[in-house]
Amino acid sequence: MTSRKPLGRYRRVVIKIGSALLVDRKAGLKKAWLDAMCADISGLKARGIDVLVVSSGAIALGRSVLDLPSGALKLEESQAAAAVGQIALARAWSESLSRGEIVAGQILLTLGDTEERRRYLNARATINQLLKIGAVPIINENDTVATSEIRYGDNDRLAARVATMTGADLLILLSDIDGLYSAPPHLDPNATFLETIAEITPEIEAMAGGAASELSRGGMRTKIDAGKIATTSGCAMIIASGKTDSPLSAIENGARSSWFAPSGTPVTARKTWIAGQLQPAGELHVDDGAVTALGAGKSLLPAGVRSVSGLFSRGDTVAIIGPAGREIARGLVSYDAEDARRIAGRKSAEIEAILGYPGRAAMVHRDDMVMTGQAGSKSERQKKDASYA
Ligand code: GLU
Repeated sequence: MTSRKPLGRYRRVVIKIGSALLVDRKAGLKKAWLDAMCADISGLKARGIDVLVVSSGAIALGRSVLDLPSGALKLEESQAAAAVGQIALARAWSESLSRGEIVAGQILLTLGDTEERRRYLNARATINQLLKIGAVPIINENDTVATSEIRYGDNDRLAARVATMTGADLLILLSDIDGLYSAPPHLDPNATFLETIAEITPEIEAMAGGAASELSRGGMRTKIDAGKIATTSGCAMIIASGKTDSPLSAIENGARSSWFAPSGTPVTARKTWIAGQLQPAGELHVDDGAVTALGAGKSLLPAGVRSVSGLFSRGDTVAIIGPAGREIARGLVSYDAEDARRIAGRKSAEIEAILGYPGRAAMVHRDDMVMTGQAGSKSERQKKDASYA
């Protein structure tokens, strides 16, 4: 046992579930385990916590349905197994969650969906909409089209990307290991358990072995990689065993688990990224009303935009310039430059009539924006920007 880890203090939790927890090689899907997990998820949701699931198991379940022999599969065999398994996996989640009156929505991602900004914004908007309507996104890699060069290959890192993409404040990795040890415990009897990891140092990285079983690709190595992605973006991480029923309740009741501290808050980490790492591809010149609205933490609506300069695509970073010619904010723009010009100064309700498609209400959403203008003079701002680099 370790100390209790209350989950109620988190707002948005991504739970990664390893294949071996959900699928038994002979018996197939572990329905009772899944039902207990869904009851735990409904408990979190009843406390107002958003829950996202990154569920492995497509290939393992497909293997079991197709009765494939054990051993390594060729790429096209594992893709076919994933195609068969994913449909069954999604259905199982959907049925099991519906017992608690929760709706599930399936999201299949490929590497490019989180690494390319435009696709990243699209995927994020869809996931956020699912959360807004109270649904639980059930996410997996799109194994049927991912090839070895362009894939995550393990759901630990995929789950960490999902956590940073959605601004989650906790990532829980459930597998057959209950946390981080100073050395692989099955090889070293003197291995000690680490309950709290304040920072992922090179020593911590060295503790992670490389092992992976046939049913799960991720060993401790990918879990520590996931920890690095999550914690640097302000998301805490827990590694816990999912081998017992109701592992989330078990974590809260003090079952052994390792907790990795976040290194900042999600908002500052994300906004630091927007402010510091990207060169603005264009400018949106806004009116006084927009300056006031942005100062109050609101999104930038097309109505407040007086003119648009530069050539940019949706998802690029733009500078937002006030009437005095001073940059007040930077953010990721929701429209290509040409469309942004066409809707500048117009009401959000008119967007569809002007563009012919129902675009986003905000030109730059507040979640995608960072205020850069408060520092006063341009040179002070430049100093501030340099400190982000
Ligand atoms: N995406 C794979 C599957 O669903 C699992 C990858 C992993 O185990 O990390 O079968």
